[in-house]
Parts: sequence; structure tokens; C-alpha cells
Amino acid sequence: MAVLNPHFQKLKTDYIFPVIEKKVSDFKKKNPSIPIFNLGVGDVSLPLAPKIAEAMQSAIEEMTVSTHGYGPPEGQDFLRNAICKEQYAQYGLSPDEIFISDGTNSDTCAIQELFDTSCTVGMTDPTYPVYYGANIIAGKKIYLLPTTKEQGFIPKPPKQRLDLVYICTPANPTGTALNFSELQEWVDWAISHEAILCIDNVYSSFISSDEIPPSVYAIAGANKVAIEMRSFSKSAGFTGLRCGYSVWPKTLELSQLNEMWLKRTNIKSNGVSYPIQRGAEACFSDEGKKQLQEQITLYRQSAKILSDGLEKLDQIFFGGKHSPYIWWKIPIDGNSWEFFDILLENCHMITIPGSGFGACGEGFVRLSSFIKPTIAKGAIDALHHYFATNQLFSQRI
Ligand code: PLP
Repeated sequence: MAVLNPHFQKLKTDYIFPVIEKKVSDFKKKNPSIPIFNLGVGDVSLPLAPKIAEAMQSAIEEMTVSTHGYGPPEGQDFLRNAICKEQYAQYGLSPDEIFISDGTNSDTCAIQELFDTSCTVGMTDPTYPVYYGANIIAGKKIYLLPTTKEQGFIPKPPKQRLDLVYICTPANPTGTALNFSELQEWVDWAISHEAILCIDNVYSSFISSDEIPPSVYAIAGANKVAIEMRSFSKSAGFTGLRCGYSVWPKTLELSQLNEMWLKRTNIKSNGVSYPIQRGAEACFSDEGKKQLQEQITLYRQSAKILSDGLEKLDQIFFGGKHSPYIWWKIPIDGNSWEFFDILLENCHMITIPGSGFGACGEGFVRLSSFIKPTIAKGAIDALHHYFATNQLFSQRI
């Protein structure tokens, strides 16, 4: 009989999203007429920007008169060039260091394939759960780096040696972003420990201050140790279209990595579809940039409504400034699932219990601002009403 991958058994069975769906569907069955404020999912809610749709439509038209078969697995030159010109040429990087993929999920899962099974992999706790799951399945040895309220949910380099470390900045779920000196500390640590940093930067377009590096390559020495991953998912509403990219500098101390990623991509992928890559290219046109900025501004407004609303209630929270996420310390003695239930039942709000992101996420819930400002306002009004009538919540805990 075929021997199954034993590591699958180490995966937790109670994945949070199905549990949330069940709770929400039970609530809806009981209360069919009550509208729900969904601050749970990290998916975009605005329609595709017209300039992007237009570019994809004309790419499809083009395909009715000329053939576009398999493209280069590592991505079309027009898109690699556009990304490089707009985002990476300023750091001395070139298009052949940029690889197109179907999104950052795939890239963050796949990076560990380039490292031996003996390699140690670090990630924060709480973490974006995909890094954890992918490395568990691959049988990698994982070290969780506890990141707490006391350190402002900013991860610190560990004392021990690790081979590959995932850093999500701006972070999901905590909404925090590393500033120049904090990221420099990680780069220096990686150089002195001969480690590789996998920087998940999918929320880069939410950065709203010069104090936060727009890319890891703005940090001295990063081109020796850091791979950066970005996606059009959250910056351009591509969650349902699928397109992302990763940067593999040829100057990495492990200089084979660029070549290895190219080889891996050539073996495992037949590339991202032509119309999608044309749509991605359109994100960098003047009109595309303007339309996308309008969308980000709207999500930011929602984040501000949520943050201001929580502040007025004297609540403790992180994020919401350089990220679409707000990480709210629960104002009850119970756990984050209990608070999830309270919010759903009384304020008709869906959140994500922090414990779903790791043990250090317990005691928090995540709110997403990928919603229209009117929804954010409705949720905050419901919350204020509930707090006003419940003594229990009126104190900062
Ligand atoms: N990385 C982080 C931190 C995310 O939060 C998400 C999506 O929520 C992704 C990656 C997935 O990106 P993509 O849609 O490009 O696969």
C-alpha cells in the first residue's frame, strides 16, 4: 500500500474558517432579516478597476486574432519590466530577478522547497497560517517566534540560528509594520546568521508613512539575504484573478537561489494567463494607478472609521494604519472565540478570533477594513450601542 505523507496528521483539523461559516450560517438561520457586518474575511470588496478590466478585455480580443499559447513560466517580459521599472529598479534590481506567479500564497508555500529538509524555518506567532501549513506538510522543522502585545507585535530576531524566516510586513493578522530600524535589525541578523528572509509584502500599498520601508530592498544589505513577495490581490483586487510576484536577487549570498527558483518555476508552472498579466501591467499605467489609489483610499477610510470607533471606546488595538487589519485586544476575561460569539450575537459583526493565527493570537480578534465605509460605520455604531448598554465593556482592560 502507498505510504501517505505522515506530516499531514500534524495539521490542525479545526481550521477556523469552516467553524466561522457554520456559526454565521446558524445565526442567519435564526435571524434571517438581520444584516451582518462582515469584518472577517481578508478579501477585497470593491469591483475591478475599469482600466484593468479594459486591458484584460483587449488582451482577450487580441487572442481572437492571434495566438497566445504557453507564455514564459517565469512571466511575460512586459510585466516583469513594468514591475521592475515601477518598484525595483531604484534598488538596482533587474527584471530577470522578478518572477510572476498566480499569487503570494503559492510563492510563500513553495519557497521552502529550495531548502533541505534539515533546514529550520522560523515564523512569528501569531502568523499568516499558510506559512505554517506549507512547512508542516513539507516536514520542515518550524520555530515559532512569539510576538506579543508588550513588543507591540513587532517581531524581534531570535538568539538561535534559523535558516529561513518568514516576516510579514505590513502584517496579517496584527496589522503592524516594521520601520527602517526594525527591518534593518532583521537584515543584519540574517547576514550574521547566514539566514534567508522571506518578506511577505502583499500589503505594501497600504503603507502610509515614510517611516515604513516601501520594500525590504530599501534596507542596506537586504539584497544579500531577502526575498520579497508581493501580489496584485490586495493592491488591485486580483484575489479572484490570481497574479503575484517574487523577487530573487542575484546578489543573494546563497547565489544559486535565483537560478533554482527559475528551474523550479519552469518545472512546476506553465505560467499565468496572458490576459491576467496584461491586466496586472495596466495597474502601472497612470489611469490604473489613479483608480487603484482611489480603492485603497476607500479601504483606508474604513480602517480609520474602525480605529476611531475603537479609540472612542477606549479599546486597545494595533494596526489599521499601514495595513487593512485591526488587531483588537478583547475586553473580556474569556477567550477570542467567546468574544467572537458576543460580537456576532449582539452587534451582528463577523471578526476572526486571534487564536486561529497561533497561540499568541489568543486574547485578540482581527477586523478587516476591506469593506465600504458605510459598513464600517454601521459596525461601529452597533458596537457603540452595545458597549453603552453593557457595563462590562466600558472599561479599558
Ligand atoms: N500573504 C498574506 C499575508 C495574506 O494575507 C494573503 C491573503 O490574505 C496572501 C499572502 C495571499 O495572497 P495571494 O492572493 O496573492 O495568494
